[in-house]
Amino acid sequence: MKNFNVPEFYRSPLIHKVRQFQKERDPKRKDTLPALLRLDDLEFILPRHFGFCYGVENAIDIAFSAVEENKGKRVFLLSQMIHNPGVNQDLQNHGVRFLQDTDGKPLFNLDELVSEDVVIIPAFGAPVQTLEKLKNKGVDILKYNTTCPFVERVWKKAEQIGKSDCTIVVHGKYSHEETRSTFSRVVQYAPAAIIVLNMEEAQRLEPYIMLQKSQEEFESEFKGKFSKGFDIHRHFQKLGVVNQTTMLASETQEIADYFRRLMIKKFGESEILSHFSDTRDTLCYATHENQEATLQLLNVQADMAIVAGGYNSSNTTHLAELLEKKFPVYFVADSQSIHNDYIECFDLGKQGIIQKPWNSRSVKRIIITGGASCPDALLDRIIHKIWQIRGNPTMPEPFIGLA
Ligand code: SF4
Repeated sequence: MKNFNVPEFYRSPLIHKVRQFQKERDPKRKDTLPALLRLDDLEFILPRHFGFCYGVENAIDIAFSAVEENKGKRVFLLSQMIHNPGVNQDLQNHGVRFLQDTDGKPLFNLDELVSEDVVIIPAFGAPVQTLEKLKNKGVDILKYNTTCPFVERVWKKAEQIGKSDCTIVVHGKYSHEETRSTFSRVVQYAPAAIIVLNMEEAQRLEPYIMLQKSQEEFESEFKGKFSKGFDIHRHFQKLGVVNQTTMLASETQEIADYFRRLMIKKFGESEILSHFSDTRDTLCYATHENQEATLQLLNVQADMAIVAGGYNSSNTTHLAELLEKKFPVYFVADSQSIHNDYIECFDLGKQGIIQKPWNSRSVKRIIITGGASCPDALLDRIIHKIWQIRGNPTMPEPFIGLA
């Protein structure tokens, strides 16, 4: 895989040792066995795959080059470059300003941009209308475009099935930058499109697909999630599913299977090829690998799990969801969240930050992982913080092996 120029402060000598151990043991990345990092009586378990992905390293490399190459010019990021508050803050500290917040609300008047300004397009891509606006201001939108190739792959897939007269269902979070970018393209090729968040939302479409409920009810229930002119009589004839690259793999599969069954119910088994386009999920390799490696962690014993990353990071959230099946999970943004007797963390159920108690003295085995936008240096800081909180002196030479 390509090597990127990622600033040294995102790296970690400690985590590098774990990566090196796994690389030497399994050079072809054939298994998902987790690693053990032991510091005296304290053990950390790290999944086979975690942390920065291809798209994030590519984006960081391009963004820091943009800063370096344009001293004296105004450098903007269209929105958060990736969903990691630390990385976004680092770029701001280097003078980069945001044009929009993560929901697409303007933070800077686009009309004030001039052609000399530098605009970095984030890894999630950008809606076509936004790119058009930037182009009209004379901004070069190609020079510092960090759109991940795996996101572009989804756009190509959507174009392909959309052109075969398929209404496209996008499995994603409708306010997520990537889903908004994908949706803006999908509607250019497909007769119609709709975004569904999860299986529950997919199931609520059934009475409209089966024409048991009215167009008016559809428009009210799915307001803001379907393309202009969506007609339940015309646009539920042939369906295809693509997803945001960072959704839960099993859920996308369930949703696609569900729509397939519905189309069989509506048109009959023998007609299915004309009414459903069978796409496999469009998750990226990193989401797939990280989720597989996290599922493997459900086979180990541990007292708790720490998941590090931005609270609005979709791929990180799904890692926390998977680990919650077995362990008490602490979803943290930084090492500063960790205190002697509680950890400030994001609660997925409450969708808010809570102070969750923990007993730093009695904990012996901790799973630790980070999403695709989490630098190794953050996991390193968390490990050091826990080591220090337990009243330990300088860190010993770690033992690294398989968990
Ligand atoms: S998570 Fe996947 S799609 Fe997103 S930036 Fe990383 S490699 Fe690209």
